[in-house]
Amino acid sequence: MGKTAIYPGSFDPITNGHLDILQRGACLFDKVIIAILTNPQKKCLFTVEERIDMISKCIETMPNVEVDTFGGLLVEYAATKGATAILRGLRAVSDFEYEFQLALMNRRLNRDVQTVFLMTGMRWIFTSSSIIKEAARFGGNISGMVPDLVRERLSAKLGGKL
Ligand code: ADP
Repeated sequence: MGKTAIYPGSFDPITNGHLDILQRGACLFDKVIIAILTNPQKKCLFTVEERIDMISKCIETMPNVEVDTFGGLLVEYAATKGATAILRGLRAVSDFEYEFQLALMNRRLNRDVQTVFLMTGMRWIFTSSSIIKEAARFGGNISGMVPDLVRERLSAKLGGKL
């Protein structure tokens, strides 16, 4: 049986930093499932359906990557998918503490699921969905940080400012 990894997150919206981790993860695993966390408490700019749509278009050329949603415990979702790994990206030191806590908690909950970290590419070290949304809100130039399709969707969402 092939090795499956779950790449969880909000992806509100997906960025080139996410895609970098995804492309590299897809070379390490037989299958990678991008799992959008559906958390009603977290306020997102894009609906889950809109995020699925953008991601689906971005992964068209990646045959072993698929997109799905999950709520509740990540390790339980991973088990239902037969996944043995959780894929996460690390940027600056600021990501480390949170990711460390999350990985240890998930390990405590299920020792059969390993968290695998990939270091971000230097180009994407300051790329995050929230910074991109912030810049886009004020008409900042975000080309090169997100796929063109995502830039267009952001522009439409924010009233054509980009
Ligand atoms: P969260 O909602 O937990 O902040 P995100 O949806 O922003 O998660 O991101 C999901 C995963 O992608 C996390 O592991 C995060 O560290 C990683 N990630 C986000 N942006 C980048 C980037 N520019 N380079 C590498 N990894 C990234």
